[in-house]
Amino acid sequence: MDQQGIGTTNDFRLLPPPAPAAASQRAGLSHAADVDYRLKYRGALIGGAIGDALGRPWEARGDAAASRELSSLGRYRRWPGWAGGPTGTVTDDTQLTMCVAESICARGRVDPEDLARRFVEWMPVARGPGAATLEAVSALARGVAWDRAGAASDGNGAAMRVSPLALLHPVDVESLRGDSARSAVITHATPMAVVSAIAQAFMVAWCLHRNPGALTADTLRSELLAGLGVALDGVSEEAVPERRADRPGRFRLSERLAEAVQMPFASPPDAFLYFYNGAFVLESLPAALWCFLHHWDDPQQAIVTAVSGGYDADTVAAMTGALVGALHGEDAFPAPWVDELEYAAELRRLADSLLALAGPPLVTGASTGAEGRASLPADRPPLRSSAGT
Ligand SMILES: [Mg+2]
Repeated sequence: MDQQGIGTTNDFRLLPPPAPAAASQRAGLSHAADVDYRLKYRGALIGGAIGDALGRPWEARGDAAASRELSSLGRYRRWPGWAGGPTGTVTDDTQLTMCVAESICARGRVDPEDLARRFVEWMPVARGPGAATLEAVSALARGVAWDRAGAASDGNGAAMRVSPLALLHPVDVESLRGDSARSAVITHATPMAVVSAIAQAFMVAWCLHRNPGALTADTLRSELLAGLGVALDGVSEEAVPERRADRPGRFRLSERLAEAVQMPFASPPDAFLYFYNGAFVLESLPAALWCFLHHWDDPQQAIVTAVSGGYDADTVAAMTGALVGALHGEDAFPAPWVDELEYAAELRRLADSLLALAGPPLVTGASTGAEGRASLPADRPPLRSSAGT
């Protein structure tokens, strides 16, 4: 069956070419014996949701406002907007990530038509959706095909929901590239949005296979950047202008991601001033990567730093959270962050299902006790007591 839909439309340019030879191996995607994939799969999804929930109160507020309350950024706040929600309430970032994960679990693969249908069903309960996503989902609801509905937007909506694709294709750059592109163009039909989805999916996948105890800051930076280069090799990119007037010219996302890896900044405010961190993915994905790398060995601090930037704080923190969660696993997060998180049990269930679908044949680690099939009941978090919440 041909599922290369975007190859048949005017968006064919957005489908990546075949990955270079031995790309997965050269990019560093191979299963490792010394990591607990169950904790890491859960960490990727739960870490993203934690960042989303912590960042939400600071969305659209400046970094100065967030910085003034630095000491409280690491606590959930009550939900002032779509209101009455308890602390730990997530937004569209997590909702759409769950749509992607649920679709993959139901279909056993990335099925853009099924994904598009789930996006339409999500719209009535959407919490803070982006403009491009709304535009595209409205088109889908009118019957426009998934490969023609996407908005011409370089927003971060495609990258923010992509982590389930890393869990589906943890050791396969070719599939990761193609499916990231297909999932992106449903709402964001631009080369930069496609590159952003491939880049974030690749980085999450890369983190899954690393034992943080065996990493150094230097090897993390150099190997992740080299892997990213392989993952994006041959993918068409567009240079676009920034939103700021003081830096004229046009810029590629891959170049800005390399800067996030290589450029030293004295402090997070300096980094946010350089990258900006709005919904424009040229700003927010490099900002998220910088927060991850700056505190790669401290998952809590990485997420709090991402929140402290304000502006698109929920999405930047969600993307940072997916990276630190994939690197360190769910257990690295403080119990209150996990216990009070909306959908924690569902996210665990989805992570376990994706692991059963696509994880290594033999799951290592003491906490797994299973070799594939996920059978944990959704209402009984296995790792932490939910008593008192
Ligand atoms: Mg959001």
